[in-house]
Amino acid sequence: MAYTIDLSERVALVTGGSRGIGAAVAKMLAEARAAVVIGCTSESKTAIGLRNRLRGMGVPAELVAGDLSKPETARAYIDFVREQFGQLDILVNNAGVWKGDPIDELRPELLTEVMNVNLMSVFDLCRDAVPLLRASSQARIVNISSTASLMGEPSYSPYAASKAGLDGLTRSLAVELGPFGITVNSVAPGWTETDMTTEELKTEAGKALVESIPLKKVATPEDVANAVLFCASNMAGHISGVTIPVEGAYRIRR
Ligand code: NAP
Repeated sequence: MAYTIDLSERVALVTGGSRGIGAAVAKMLAEARAAVVIGCTSESKTAIGLRNRLRGMGVPAELVAGDLSKPETARAYIDFVREQFGQLDILVNNAGVWKGDPIDELRPELLTEVMNVNLMSVFDLCRDAVPLLRASSQARIVNISSTASLMGEPSYSPYAASKAGLDGLTRSLAVELGPFGITVNSVAPGWTETDMTTEELKTEAGKALVESIPLKKVATPEDVANAVLFCASNMAGHISGVTIPVEGAYRIRR
């Protein structure tokens, strides 16, 4: 028997959906027939190109642009979805920045930016999205965490702390929103080939790092998007409050 994931009649918002993991998620959701709103900082050529590609697949697709380091942006994203579609079924909180400093050189502005984009905006997005999600018969929140949440990351403690906060938010909301039929999960990628990691992966240290992954390769954005699609689907209807690592056994290597 062939299994298919059918998300027709569902509306998804993917923050950071213009590039990398978010773009792969947006494409997979569209392949599953969901209408997709792509969040991004600005309406770049890449973002417009992706939106047009999704429309070419025959699904409604829109862009919403705004800087999630600013507290007013989350509400603007959700207002846009409400105005365009009147519903929201799948919220993928993917936008993120990977920045760090050694603790004794920590710049307050870096700490603020990382926390605002990676964590604070997700609180705001969830708060503003919940009235729409409650009205859905199959509501999903999927937060894109990181193995840094599970392992820590030297010299990137703001990033690791933001992602650990995200996983705490995931577990809390899974319990709080469960009675409304909303599932809340995290997907925690390890090293994944995107603009975020391109430079690092070219270095000698980066090459050694790939060798240290038991599967001997980094994830593709699609590897991560597969887990997100699963969380968004009917198949994951009774899975909530978990963090799913997608990291090729990197954490448990010897
Ligand atoms: P990426 O290729 O750098 O893309 C980042 C995305 O986030 C872009 O769509 C970008 O929009 C958006 N974004 C960044 N800052 C934003 C802001 N202030 N406001 C609104 N949107 C913003 O990153 P990625 O590798 O796909 O990462 C996606 C998620 O996976 C992040 O949460 C990241 O922490 C997590 N992750 C990645 C890896 C990895 O190895 N790549 C590993 C673990 C976890 P624009 O295109 O408009 O700039």
